[in-house]
Amino acid sequence: MHLHLDNNRQGPGSDETTLAALSLSCIDTDSPLKVADIGCGTGAQTLALAKKLKGEIVAVDMFGEFLCKLEERMKGEQLTADVRTLQCSMDNLPFSDGELDMIWSEGAVYNIGFRNGVTMWRRFLKPGGILAVSEITWTTGERPEELDAFWRGEYPETDTASAKIKVLEDAGYRVLAHFILPENCWTDNYYVPLLKSHARFLEKYGSDKTAHDIVALDMQEAEFYNRYKGYYSYGFYIAEKI
Ligand code: SAH
Repeated sequence: MHLHLDNNRQGPGSDETTLAALSLSCIDTDSPLKVADIGCGTGAQTLALAKKLKGEIVAVDMFGEFLCKLEERMKGEQLTADVRTLQCSMDNLPFSDGELDMIWSEGAVYNIGFRNGVTMWRRFLKPGGILAVSEITWTTGERPEELDAFWRGEYPETDTASAKIKVLEDAGYRVLAHFILPENCWTDNYYVPLLKSHARFLEKYGSDKTAHDIVALDMQEAEFYNRYKGYYSYGFYIAEKI
């Protein structure tokens, strides 16, 4: 959390891809909606959505520090939706059945597993409600063993878009659209600022072995991305509750 606190994003993404996913959802942005942004971090996508939507966005994260940062960032922005922050775990959400028009979650559902998360969250959506979720995705059927082993170790549910779509269908959604995040979402918007924040982080926490392990893992992940980016990205999946 401390490493990521001052960054715009805590995962790959961009305002452009957030807005592209919103547009593909075909949701009526003129009517007031109730939306949850789950695993919002410091809220890059929350702010992008809050400039386009009306109604209420509940920005959920387990770290209060990220939510405070989002509240700071909201000041001075021209937002058309109300944003409320909620410190809560994504597997213990307080919403009622059918309460939400839309669930948004960028680069976060992996924390409880994609299948588990999309299945668990479905009941909070109205019939026809939208789920927009991004998730690491293989972009080819085969890949080098070294890469496969790395991501299987980090996140065993790493899979192809067709497999992710099947999970969504099995869980009671119809997939309206999906697309793959372009390279700048990973480099300019994620790894470049993240690797820059390592120096400041180690100045403060350099006596802690865990801090060094985190930095080493980030560097390995960024190096893998550089070497193997043709084989994976984040997929953005836009689906409707049926
Ligand atoms: N959506 C943001 C953040 C992605 S990083 C972005 O794309 O920039 C993943 C986020 O999920 C982090 O902010 C982390 O604090 C949050 N998170 C991890 N486990 C969580 C849990 N169990 N419940 C709620 N939030 C969680």
